Amino acid sequence: MKTNVYYTLIVLFFLVSCQSKENTDKKESYINPKSLTMELKNGNWFNGNTFEKKTAWVRNGILSFENKNELNDTIINLKGKYVIPPFAEAHNHNLESAFQLEKRINSYLKNGVFYVKQLSSIKKQIDPLMHHYNKPNGIDISMAHAPLTATGGHPVALREWFLESGWFEGLFDTLDDIESHGFFTIDNQNDLENKWSHILSFKPDFIKIMLLHSEEYEKRKNDTTFFGKKGLNPALVPIIVKKAHENNLRVSAHVETAHDFHVAVKSGVDEIAHFPEIFNGNIVPREDVVLARKKNTVVTTTISLINRKKEDSLYTDLLDNIKQNLKIFKEEKVTLAIGSDMFNDNSVGEFQLLYDLNIFSNLELLKMWVENAAKTTLPNRNIGHLQEGFEASFLVLDSDPLADIREINNSIVLKVKQGEILE
Ligand SMILES: [Zn+2]
Repeated sequence: MKTNVYYTLIVLFFLVSCQSKENTDKKESYINPKSLTMELKNGNWFNGNTFEKKTAWVRNGILSFENKNELNDTIINLKGKYVIPPFAEAHNHNLESAFQLEKRINSYLKNGVFYVKQLSSIKKQIDPLMHHYNKPNGIDISMAHAPLTATGGHPVALREWFLESGWFEGLFDTLDDIESHGFFTIDNQNDLENKWSHILSFKPDFIKIMLLHSEEYEKRKNDTTFFGKKGLNPALVPIIVKKAHENNLRVSAHVETAHDFHVAVKSGVDEIAHFPEIFNGNIVPREDVVLARKKNTVVTTTISLINRKKEDSLYTDLLDNIKQNLKIFKEEKVTLAIGSDMFNDNSVGEFQLLYDLNIFSNLELLKMWVENAAKTTLPNRNIGHLQEGFEASFLVLDSDPLADIREINNSIVLKVKQGEILE
């Protein structure tokens, strides 16, 4: 019997590893040998549109609506409760510091946020913490490590501030030491060619690039008063995207302005890491929004960043502008993903703000959080949907989120990740 189990696992492992090598488009479901063998009766399961009453089975961490297990070690009567995929936080940086880390991880798990995209990180700093991540009973993360920027661009000033504040003690002594760990300086195509293998040596899950006020690239590039407030030469962006795609890496672009958004979308980046014009207050041209839809560009919201300006006289106008732009993105059906970029958030605060703006339906908000955010965080995994053969990760809610979504996190009564019940 034991030999059979091992044989099955070896075959499954072989199949999974072959798939990932031969066809990178093929998605992976991670087998979890520690999974419960479950039957879940009388649940209402989210199908991407509505809830369907059906029975589900779990084995090896995989979900099925067809294959009945011969023997279940766990049978749960869901009594008409509502089952949805887990939430994802599509933009944060709060998992690379050991300071109060468990509190942040627990907050993610408690709220049903199982997947977190780290939009930049210092590999040296996060490596000793990796035992917390990417395991069935923990959160799963994806990382870009050092972003690509220009001389004096974002996030160089931020890294310098961290260095001077003593946060990098034992890691780096000077700003020069941080190059390649905390940012890659790419000022021209030569830099890109020379540094590309170094960039890949960090084994990033995706490439993060910096675009800030690219409409003023020439004006800002040699002006030190814009230290930290500039980014890549926009002409380099399509070249970076091409190179990344040749290496099967998606590209995520930090943007500030509508012009940054235009450059990023036109260049074929896969994801925009921030909603454009949060702090700048302009309307995004509809033709660029349409192009983002055509190119399947995912746009992560991060609009709660505006809360930093709450005391500012421009706050109301900026928020109004965000609302107008969000309506355009909604009308043009752009794929929006919920992500906060707030160190003390876990995407719940971002969701609450989006809910309060009263632009999106409950269904749209749910899809932005469980489908789109998961897809852009871990695009190669079978997650974000409750479908045959997908990972058995889900949340059971005691009320229908399509009827009332406001308290969705407080209505979670059961959390299952890859076939394991989370406390
Ligand atoms: Zn960020």
